[in-house]
Order: sequence, then C-alpha cells, then structure tokens
Amino acid sequence: MFTKVPIEEIIIRPPVEGSSLSTLIAVTGGCSWNKCKFCNTYKGAYGVIQDYGIRPIEDVKNDIDYYANINRHGFPVFLAGGNPTSAPTDYLAEIIKYVRLKIHNVPRVSCYSKALDILRKTEEELKKLADAGLDIVYMGLESGSSKVLRIMRKGTNAESMIKAGKKLLNAGIKLSLYIILGLGGKKYSKDHVTETARVLTEINPTIFRFRTLNIGPHSDLWTDWKNGDFELLSPVENLIEERDIIANLGENITSQVFNDHISNYCDIETPNIKEDREMFLKTLDYYINHPRIKNLPRKNLTRM
Ligand code: SF4
Repeated sequence: MFTKVPIEEIIIRPPVEGSSLSTLIAVTGGCSWNKCKFCNTYKGAYGVIQDYGIRPIEDVKNDIDYYANINRHGFPVFLAGGNPTSAPTDYLAEIIKYVRLKIHNVPRVSCYSKALDILRKTEEELKKLADAGLDIVYMGLESGSSKVLRIMRKGTNAESMIKAGKKLLNAGIKLSLYIILGLGGKKYSKDHVTETARVLTEINPTIFRFRTLNIGPHSDLWTDWKNGDFELLSPVENLIEERDIIANLGENITSQVFNDHISNYCDIETPNIKEDREMFLKTLDYYINHPRIKNLPRKNLTRM
C-alpha cells in the first residue's frame, strides 16, 4: 500500500532541528525497534514506510562533503534516522569527527536515540562519542510509568530510562527527553503523571519537552482506541496532566522545558523549571480554567 523509501531518505527530525535551521544528514534509516504501539512514523504516517538500516560510511561522508562544498557552515547538524546511536560507536564517532572536520563552526551535533542503545554502550563508548563532538541526544521517555511503557511496548522500563539518562549525562552528552501527554489514556493517567515526575526528578535531564498523544491509523493503538480499549484525554485533561507532572517534580530539577510540538495545547517554555515553576503552574491553571479551552475540540492529528 505504501512505497518503501530508502534508508537515506529523512522522514522525521525534532521541531528544533527543522531543515531551515539545521543541516540534516541521514546516518540510519527507520527505527531498530519499531514496535511502540502508539508510533506509526516508519509505518505509513508520512505516506511511506522505511526499514531499519545503517548507511555505508562512505555515503554519509559524501553527504558531509556536499554540505561543506556548498558552504553550509555555521549551522547545527542533525544526524538523522530513528536512532543513529544503534550504530557501532566507532562508526558514529568517525562520522561526528568528519562533520567537525569538514563543516566549520557547527554549534551543535545531535541525533535521536533510544534508551536500549545507550544501555548497550559502555561508559567509555559514550565518552568517545562526547569527545568526538556529539552534543545532545533526543530520546523518547514518553512516560515514567513502567506499566504504561509495557502496555505501549516501548521495550524499556522506568529504571532503564533512569540508568540510560544518567549514563548519557555523566558522559557529558546533553539529554532532551520527550514526554507524551495522554499516553496512559484515562485509565493510567495518575500513574503516568506521578511516575513521569519521579523519573524526570531522578534524571534531571538538560531539557524535557511535552507532546500530546494523537493516534494514527497505522499504529496498533488505533485498533485499541477504535475497540474502546483505550480512551483519549480531552485537551483540558492533557493540560491537567502537564500541570500535575510539573507540580510533582522534585526540588532539584533545573531542566529547560518546552511545549514546541504542534500537538500541544499550550506553548509555555522556560530555561529553568526550578526558577519558573510557579509561573508555569499559574499559566497552566489559567489555560485549564479558561472557558474556551474547556470546550476546545481535540486536534486529532494522525501523526505523533
Ligand atoms: S517511538 Fe521511537 S522507538 Fe518507538 S517505534 Fe517509534 S521511532 Fe521507534
């Protein structure tokens, strides 16, 4: 039904790494896991499917040479693919070093990652990636609740997320975690909130970002939802989850927080949640109690 696209074709990147802002270079294609119940990214969400694969290093280097030749210096570089950290460390370190060598004044080199990739690597390997010049990885925590993660087939649990997060930060690589509001549905909303706040507090990531659950027709969660086995939250219930996660954070947490995804119902952000927690909560309460927001329909996007 869908065309299969080659692994060098870039399907997604975080909003902050938009192609007008960053240089996008494909390293892997697809996702090495590809089993999360809520995710249809590589299964047709964008009208195509893509298998997992690691690109030949010469092809990646050719792309880097191309960007160097057209003088695309001074921009952040995003190494694309569902999880380039699934690739062998030496391969990835060589690519990052080559980016740093060929493209000048790169303020940031980043990529997506999965907790299991990080747990499989030794501390020395992560240090090697940091020394090569990997600045930040974007990782889906999605939920701090092991129950929710198991139901959603994330392939990891809260404790491995904490371990992976701390391992990255200890190696000197910044960490941006994604939280999906509404991922526990109505049934596990409380657990999703308290456990997510606990895991964030344990990790104290550099950044955490909210997005809101939307179910696409090519995800397995779509069937659960259609059968009535999963109940989506309303916009105001998603905002209440966000408020409660922030309210439950420990005192130590100093992360930057963003709502920079199209799926969200607010766009509040802060460079330090410890300093801005009261502002954040007050603003969320304002939204939650606003009559217009209370009656707001869901966006019903068909992608995450
Ligand atoms: S959510 Fe991430 S890890 Fe899960 S299947 Fe999608 S791309 Fe892979």
